[in-house]
Amino acid sequence: MQSITKRWLRGSLLITVLILALAEGLFLYFCYQNLYGDIERAMESRFSTFIGRLQATGTAGDSDSNAASRAQSLRRTVEQFEEKDKFEFMLLDQNGIVLATSSGTINENLTEGADYYHALISSDGFGRAIFRTPDGERVMAVTALVPYDAGNITAMRLVTSLTLADRQWWNTVLLSAGVVLVALGFALWSGLFFIRSIVRPLGQVESIANRIAGGDLQTRLPDTRYNDEIGRLCHTINEMAEHLTETERMKNEFISSVSHELRTPLTSIKGWVETIGTIQDPTDQNYRKGLEVIGAETDRLYAMVEELLDFSRLQNGIKLDCQVLDLVAEATDAALFVEGRIRQEGLRLVYEEPPEPYPVWADPARLRQVFINVLDNAIKYSPPGGSVFLTLSRTPTTVTVSVRDQGRGISPEDLEKVKVKFFKGKNAVRGSGIGLAVVDAIVTALGGTTDIASTLGQGTTVRITLPIYRSGQEHLHEPI
Ligand code: ADP
Repeated sequence: MQSITKRWLRGSLLITVLILALAEGLFLYFCYQNLYGDIERAMESRFSTFIGRLQATGTAGDSDSNAASRAQSLRRTVEQFEEKDKFEFMLLDQNGIVLATSSGTINENLTEGADYYHALISSDGFGRAIFRTPDGERVMAVTALVPYDAGNITAMRLVTSLTLADRQWWNTVLLSAGVVLVALGFALWSGLFFIRSIVRPLGQVESIANRIAGGDLQTRLPDTRYNDEIGRLCHTINEMAEHLTETERMKNEFISSVSHELRTPLTSIKGWVETIGTIQDPTDQNYRKGLEVIGAETDRLYAMVEELLDFSRLQNGIKLDCQVLDLVAEATDAALFVEGRIRQEGLRLVYEEPPEPYPVWADPARLRQVFINVLDNAIKYSPPGGSVFLTLSRTPTTVTVSVRDQGRGISPEDLEKVKVKFFKGKNAVRGSGIGLAVVDAIVTALGGTTDIASTLGQGTTVRITLPIYRSGQEHLHEPI
């Protein structure tokens, strides 16, 4: 259960953190560009105004006097610069030495910065630098080269303090980091809340399922408390426990009925053995009768042991040893096998053997068991004088064996359960309730289907359909 939380932390939360970090990074990047870019653009626009004014100056023919008047105009612009409180305006010579400033004093602190050098090498004549003055103040300097001859004045420079902009920047950083942290906290809280709403009930389900697994089959989960997947899981576990209880009950019934039935023939055998022991003459009538009874009871015991073996096969899974078989020959064999009993019971077997073979991929012993179990039921539930119909038919891909009787039939509510192991219908005469379960398990393992149709009072038809053998089927349908 720990691992659900961990998996969520590793998966979902990590992605949320990464997305938030990326969003924060992008937001801060654009804010920075906007804030400091605006300051830079403001300075550049002022340069454009000054340069526009310079262009208008110096229209006289003599270039020297033009240069002088431009230099004069620039110096005047510096002296009359109105935004002294925001910017320091400077004029630079070709070595980047400050010639004049708008404040009137040459502040050594502001002479640093590589903006003049950047302007020299840039294509548009502008250079920018952000640096810290020796006083510790962060400033931005933008230099624009004068595009005309203006005597010894080569460039104009504007320097402004970044104190306000920096403060605004840090406010933005703190505010957005706060928003991100709140969002992250909310994601964490809502996620943990959600995870707990899953993990807690799952813990309860686990502990109760453990009790059921430990053998406490009476315990049930409250499957109406949660109206979601957990509720459905509880419901399924309850159903499972219900099935386990039912199987357990039927198994116990099976064992007790088999032990009961074992006792009767054993008692009879023991009695007859003792009787025979006292008879000296082997031609005595009781001697013969005793041997007959012992023989018949041994057959019954044999059938019961077979049933027990079926039971253990069902528990451990049906093992098949398949080969290509003719279903017609197998059905005929089974018909011959039960014919004697059918006659003995006063019944009639109606079987018409198809002329051509029906090849199937099956285990002969298990297939025989299928026939015998179904025919045995038909005999058991047939009324005296009734008929048992064994019919074989085929389609291009399947073969169907039908066994129909005219017996008492199965009630609709029992019909859906007759294939369940240990299930005995209300009409059951004898048996342990595993015959049809074994049939269904074998037929399913062979890739076929078992359908049972029945009408109360009219009879039952068991229809077994198997795939026709195709070469290569042995690889497709490995024995299980
Ligand atoms: P068993 O091995 O005891 O015969 P089965 O699994 O073969 O058990 O059958 C289960 C139940 O199905 C029987 O107890 C009986 O109620 C019903 N049943 C099976 N075959 C027939 C049939 N041919 N006619 C009527 N009832 C049948």
